[in-house]
Parts: sequence; structure tokens; C-alpha cells
Amino acid sequence: MLAPDDPVTAITGIGPAKAKALGQLGIATVRDLIEHYPRRHADLGAISSVEDAPIGDPVTLMGTITSWEQRRARAKGGRRLDIATATVRDRDGAYFTATFFNQSWRENQLPAGTFASFSGKLKRFRGDLQVTMPEVTVLGDEEEPGNHRRLTPIYPATSALPSFRLAQWIEAALDDLPPLPDHLPASLKDEYDLVDLDFAFQQLHHPDDRASADAATHRLKFDELFTLQVGLQWRRVRLEAEVAGKDNSPVAGRFAARFLEHLPFDPTGAQHRAFDRIAADLKRDRPMHRLLQGDVGSGKTLVAVWTMLCAVDNDRQAALMAPTEVLAEQHLRTLTDLLAPLGVNVLDGLRIEALTSSTPTSERRRILGELLSGDVDVIIGTHALLEEGVRFADLGVVVIDEQHRFGVGQRVRLRQKGEEAGGGPDVLVMTATPIPRSLALTLYGDLDVTVLDELPPGRKPIVTQLITPREAARRQGLYGFVREQAQRGLQTYVVCPLVEGSEAIEAASAEQTHRRLAEEVWPDLEVGLVHGRMRSDVKEGVMSAFRRGEIHVLVATTVIEVGVDVAAASVMVIEDAERFGISQLHQLRGRVGRGAEKSYCVLFAGWNAPLTDEAVRRLEAVTATTDGFELAEVDLEIRGEGQLFGERQSGLPDLKLARLTRDRKLIEQTREAARTLVEADPDLDERTNHALRAEVVRRYRGGLEELEALATG
Ligand code: ADP
Ligand code: MG
Repeated sequence: MLAPDDPVTAITGIGPAKAKALGQLGIATVRDLIEHYPRRHADLGAISSVEDAPIGDPVTLMGTITSWEQRRARAKGGRRLDIATATVRDRDGAYFTATFFNQSWRENQLPAGTFASFSGKLKRFRGDLQVTMPEVTVLGDEEEPGNHRRLTPIYPATSALPSFRLAQWIEAALDDLPPLPDHLPASLKDEYDLVDLDFAFQQLHHPDDRASADAATHRLKFDELFTLQVGLQWRRVRLEAEVAGKDNSPVAGRFAARFLEHLPFDPTGAQHRAFDRIAADLKRDRPMHRLLQGDVGSGKTLVAVWTMLCAVDNDRQAALMAPTEVLAEQHLRTLTDLLAPLGVNVLDGLRIEALTSSTPTSERRRILGELLSGDVDVIIGTHALLEEGVRFADLGVVVIDEQHRFGVGQRVRLRQKGEEAGGGPDVLVMTATPIPRSLALTLYGDLDVTVLDELPPGRKPIVTQLITPREAARRQGLYGFVREQAQRGLQTYVVCPLVEGSEAIEAASAEQTHRRLAEEVWPDLEVGLVHGRMRSDVKEGVMSAFRRGEIHVLVATTVIEVGVDVAAASVMVIEDAERFGISQLHQLRGRVGRGAEKSYCVLFAGWNAPLTDEAVRRLEAVTATTDGFELAEVDLEIRGEGQLFGERQSGLPDLKLARLTRDRKLIEQTREAARTLVEADPDLDERTNHALRAEVVRRYRGGLEELEALATG
């Protein structure tokens, strides 16, 4: 008997070489193999005898290969075409041929004497009956037509491991495994009309009919989404049960209230709604875990600042963690400006400090001391905040900016710093990357979500244009336009091509672009440069000069992608825009249009490499709308969730069958089901839930760090 965790070599017919080939498909164990799901099921049609097979229809013919013939021909356009033709004799002694193009290996795969079924469209070619490029299933001699299944699974395969081979091994594995125990409670299966796990595996790989295949797929999809949600909900409930919250409600007359009184503008309706929601969370005796989503420019910073001041109102501290130094510096400046009316770093005012990896040692020592003594009210920083030596007197509120750049584990680490001081801090996670609802419910299934769905009044839409080499003249036009803007005191960003994985090459190309633009294109303008390879004080110097308006054109790599806020910047030029993803382009574009002036975004694309269809779709989407949520949906459709989801840092288990784009209803359903189950049995220790618990832990594979700790602890 096989066990699911056995290596694939435990299956008859799989030796080390085959195992290695399987490894390339990510298949190491028997379980991996049976979880190698078919891409689709091909309809093989009814079995016919050659004599009465209908010409032009899909049919399945069975027979023994008697001989092979290999030919070479020229296809249209002069390409080489290898043609392999098998002659097959059926039981009644009638002949037909099976023809394969550029698959000469078929002769080795199916040597003369092989008994098999051939499924495809039947044609008459030069007098012969012929099936072209058929689906082939090798059959044992004893196989009777009665065993014929119309539906055959088609697996993701390689030329070394064709689909039919995988099918054979999967079938062998399923035959040799004991019936798979079901981890779903029977009541749940009843409620959601789900078939048993073992049946689902059998029928997905070997369906009796379309209805069974569908039922099997549905059950296994449900499993993927449901276990993912149970993991998130379970973790959340346990965390909440273990850790008391701190009451960080705003206190009348103190910082949070005074901050709003001194604002030069009124908060938007969406910001007000966020304050209300957050205030309720802050008051609860459980720590807040809230995601604040909002498009670029929707005013998340304001909400974050207010939330942090609520901690200070209660004589606690607040921490803001940003993904980059540039962004941390930016936050420090924004906060210092916004809070100036309340007094910053003066007697009776707020104490605000920043901590990054380039904070000098002596300064760092001082800040750490003052954090521990409680003298610092608000600390802003990068990953440096997560280091061992960073301790708080009493951390009340944690804000994490641009969550998608941090893993779940980092969120947890920062929160734990607050727990050291007794009770759990309230956590607000912000993301400027709009996420489709289905994705938010999965990626952030453990967080409550607030959306800032309203932009501050008076924003002018950013005019976006795509310029390809066909409109080469427009490049010159743009150069002139940038100059005119500069003469009116408006500034321009030029973002250099993204070079995936090489900051050094990216920096070099930015330097080159900078030289060309400064010397040849705009010798009369001040052209600055920032890239990731510069020392942070140099970088900061350039950014300040740009902010003060002393630089007209800033050439930059993507270091400016997130959060930089310069009101006079009105033109964003992106070189080789096809290299960027939709959300990156949207983020970059969000760097302009922050002031009262009409703003522009120009995407240069296709200048150094031909544009793929996919790139064109991406660029056209960005040109067509400035609505981040709409773009997020398009992005999800184009890229598929593999990449969005599979960034692995999410720490969530893989989805093999479920699709966020197509399975929205099931996502909501499973989330609801998971909530109900976990609320009723927060420890998952009712007997009916033991198997489920083990399955959840297995699927997370320690990804969601704490989940395993929960299971063992
Ligand atoms: P986000 O972080 O969501 O991209 P910010 O918080 O940086 O957006 O806000 C963008 C700009 O809008 C900032 O200059 C901010 O001062 C301004 N702003 C925020 N809220 C309002 C409001 N209610 N009315 C007017 N301007 C606002
Ligand atoms: Mg921001």
C-alpha cells in the first residue's frame, strides 16, 4: 500500500530518472502527483468501429499499431514538417492511420504492437481513414470497450513527461492508495453539497461523466479556499483570545482632536468613516487588525497620523513602518509638517523620531533609549524597527505602510514588540495598491477592511498618453512641453527602465539617461538624478532640492515609486513602460497630480523591444482609466493570480484549482463557512475538526509562521 507522503519512486514504473523529470513539474511525493490536476478533460467521443465511424466527428477508435512511417515535408512558409504515421488495425481487421506532426518520438512511445485508443476527428485522406494528432491512450490487451471513458484528463505536461504517462502513474497511485480520509466534517459537506474527498480525487482524474468531473472539481476547489480561510480565521481568533487589547480611544482636547481642528482642509467623507471605524476598534478590548485600502492620493496618511495620535492621547507610543528609506524620510517630513501646529520636538509637543539602517550609531543609541523610557511618542522607520534592540515603553498603535512589501511575519514581529509591554497594540495596515475584493478576502482574510473610496475634492484627472516609435515626432514635442512646464515652475519626473533583479544595471542606465538629458536635451534646465545605489544622504539631498523646486527634471529609478509627494510635479515620463506592471505604473503616475495643476503621464513603450500583446493590454488599460480598483481587476485578469498571489511572501498556501477571478462566490462562501466553524470551535479541537486542523497545518506548511506554533503550542 502506498502512503500519500511516499516519494514518487514508490510507484511501480517510476525510477530515479522519471522521478527527476517529475521533480521539474514540482512533483516529489505521491500526494504531489495526485494533486497534479488535469488542465481539462477531453471528450473522446463514443467508441466506434472503423467501418461505421462517422467522418468529420470526434471518435475514438481502438486497435493495434502494425507499422510506422516517418516522412519529412515542407510546411507553408518553408518550415520543416516531420510527419509520423502509424497504421492501425482494429479488431475487425479494418485499417486506419494516425498521423502526428513534429512528434517523431511517437514511434518510440508507441512501438508497433501497441494496443491503444486514438481519439480525434476522423477524416478521409487519399483514400485512407485518418485521425490527425489524436489523443492516445495505451490500453492493456485485456481492456474491453466497455471500460471506455469519454472524458480523459489532459495534464500539464512536458515532452519528457507527456500527459498520458502522467495519467498512467496517477491512476496507479490512486489504485494503490488506501481510501483518502476526509478532513471535512460531514455536516459541512451536507450543507455545501460536497462530494467525499476520495471520490473527488478518483473522479477528477477519471471522471465517469461531466457531472462527476464538475462535482469533483468543486469539492477540491472548496477545500483549497476553505482551508486557507480556516487558517486565517483560526489564527486571528487565537491571537485575539491570547492578547488583550489596549484602549486607545481618542481623548477629547488632546492630540488627535486638536490635529483635526488644525487641518487646513476638511476630511473627506471616506476619511470620516475610517475614523469612526478605527475609533470603535481602538476602544475594543481586542487589538485592532485593520487594512486601510485606498487609491494613490486618497489621503491614507491622514488617517494613519490620526490613529497614531490616539495612542499618544493615551500616553502610549506609535510606530510607523515604511518599506524604503525614501518613504520613511518622506513620512517624517509629512508628519512634522502636519503636526507642526501641535508642536513637534518642542517642550509640551510631540516627540517624533526616525530610525533606519543609515541612522548613525550614536543617534540610534539615543533613540533606542528614549523609546524604552517612553520619551519618544512616534517613531517612523524601515525594517530597522524590527531589530532586536528596538524596545518600547508602551506601544499602543502600529501602522504598516505599503503592506504588500512586507511579509505576514514582519507584521507579526512589529506587533509583538507591543506585546512585550503588556497587551497587544492596535494594528493598521495600509496599502496603496488597490486590491480586487476577491483577492483582499483571501490575502487579508484575517483583517477587517476599510476602503477610502473617495478622493479629496479638486483633483484633476491625470492625462495619460502612450507613445510608441510610430509617433517618434512626439518625443521631441514632449521635450519642448517639459521645458514650458519648467518655465511655469512645474516639475517633471523621468523614470528609467526597470531592470529586474539588478540594481547596479538599473543605476548605470539611469546615470546614462541623466547625462543624455542634462547635456543634450535640456542643457538649459536643472536635471537631477536619484537611484537606489546612491548613499542615502546624497539621495536625500537631491530629493530636498527637487522638493524646493531647484531641480526641474528628476531622473529616477523606481525608488520614487511609493509615497513621494511633491505638489509642483506635474509631468511623469516613464521610459520602457512595457517593463512595468499595471500597479507599478499606476503608483508612479500617482506621483503627479498632487497639486492644483493639470498633470500628465507619458508612457514610452516599444522603443527598445517589440511590444507583446499582453504589454499592449496593460498599457492601454493604464491609459484608459485612473481608477486603481478598475486597474487592479484588469491586472488580475491579465496576470492571473499566480503572480499576484504566488509572491510567496504572503505565506499562504497555493491555489491549484481555485481562481480568484472566476471563483468569487466560492471565496465568499468559504470565508463565511470558515468564520462560522472557527467561531463555534476556536481551537479546532472538537473531534470532528481534528482532521481538518491537521489538513490546514499541512497546507500552510509553516508558511504562516504562527499557524504551526498554534498547532504545536
Ligand atoms: P495616499 O497616501 O493615500 O496616497 P496622502 O495621504 O499622501 O495619500 O494624501 C495625498 C495628498 O492629499 C496629500 O497632499 C494630503 O495632504 C492631501 N489630502 C489628504 N486628505 C485630504 C482632504 N481631505 N482634503 C484635501 N486634501 C487632502
Ligand atoms: Mg501614502
